[in-house]
Amino acid sequence: MLILNSPEVTQETCLRWKKESPIAFVPTMGCLHEGHLELVKKAKQLASKVVVSIFVNPLQFGPNEDFEKYPRVFEQDCEKLKSLGVDLLFHPGVKDLYPEGFSTKVSVGDIGNRLCGAFRPNHFEGVATVVLKLFSITNCDFAVFGEKDFQQLTIIQQLTRDFNLPICVIGHPTVRAEDAVALSSRNHYLSPLEREAAGQIPKVLELAKREALQYPEQTVEQLLVKLRPLLTEHGLKLQYLEVTHSRQLLPAQANDSLMSLALPHLFVAVYAGTTRLIDNVSLAIDR
Ligand code: AMP
Repeated sequence: MLILNSPEVTQETCLRWKKESPIAFVPTMGCLHEGHLELVKKAKQLASKVVVSIFVNPLQFGPNEDFEKYPRVFEQDCEKLKSLGVDLLFHPGVKDLYPEGFSTKVSVGDIGNRLCGAFRPNHFEGVATVVLKLFSITNCDFAVFGEKDFQQLTIIQQLTRDFNLPICVIGHPTVRAEDAVALSSRNHYLSPLEREAAGQIPKVLELAKREALQYPEQTVEQLLVKLRPLLTEHGLKLQYLEVTHSRQLLPAQANDSLMSLALPHLFVAVYAGTTRLIDNVSLAIDR
């Protein structure tokens, strides 16, 4: 496995490879778990060259967020990627991607101000900016993103369409632990009690899915009223619990019936102690 930190050398290498074979790319911030590794396995099915990046992107962290303390375990990550047969690991430093004078950023529009974006100003601008750079550096044909970050996946698909990027963006289902909690690098921050409380998140999502299938005539608010206490009673602090509709993740109105919505989707963000956890589920009948 090649390990490179120079954007220029990575770009040259990928351009050379691309003449012979397609490239599939998985961007990450490292501290890799089985969720990331499943994306890499998917990438291997898609193309004969697989590139992974590890970069904790300062542009997508707010001033009071966990950029400094975000877990960095590069050696362990390398071993995992090597054992999966990754061809190239791109591991730039902050100055490699944002040298003196860097100034252009991607504006993602309204979708970036909703859900997580309402609580993390400029987060998705930072994500879209780094992903556009990484797409340009890796020259990938395929890119695999997790549905765990469904809003991010949606924004990247929109970016790809809007900028006519010749890249097929693939969403991969959320990979979960035995108790169905979504795997996340941030789960490392949780105390045993907080980890137990986090177990309530997938239970609430599963209940929401069942409710949507059995009682599709109920309104969004009727559903949310049932779900909210199931999160807060277990010591989780609710940041948001929202239903969206359509591919643009538009906010559903409180009195919309679930069956009136196209592609209804439930999003949740909670704090377990000081750790912010997110998850989501489709409420559509066919998923
Ligand atoms: P991150 O390192 O958190 O930036 O995540 C890198 C990629 O892995 C993103 O596309 C995430 O959506 C994806 N990812 C993270 N956790 C999971 C998970 N539990 N299941 C599937 N994909 C995930």
